[in-house]
Amino acid sequence: MVQMKFLTIHCAATPEGRDVKAGTISQWDIAKFNQVSYHQVIELDGTAVRTLPDQTRGAHTGGHNTGNIGICYVGGVDKNNKVPKDTRTPAQRATMKRIVADYKRLYPGIVVRGHRDWPGVAKACPSFDVAGWLKAEGLA
Ligand SMILES: [Zn+2]
Repeated sequence: MVQMKFLTIHCAATPEGRDVKAGTISQWDIAKFNQVSYHQVIELDGTAVRTLPDQTRGAHTGGHNTGNIGICYVGGVDKNNKVPKDTRTPAQRATMKRIVADYKRLYPGIVVRGHRDWPGVAKACPSFDVAGWLKAEGLA
């Protein structure tokens, strides 16, 4: 069994309000990377869909996928599909908070960060300050 050391939060880079389902994101990933990228995807209504078992290596953080859980929320770009934006709905935020808390219990010491917090990442993903959000939610 691989010990989980990291939890990386992503956005799907879909426009605000567009109700893309987890299955669609997995299909995009399979088309692009030949495998499912994330372990769970949080849909607009807050539903968390399990897309990979935790023990299956994901493909979401270049060069750092071993022992790294990938969580992706649907959204992350403004309505015009131009500017990175924290588009999380209240339901998505609540689910994300629960998921992070669950993983922290399951894997004590797990480091939670945003995709953009990894060295050398030039993307805005997940379009919000994960460290600040964790602090605000009492999860830091
Ligand atoms: Zn990402």
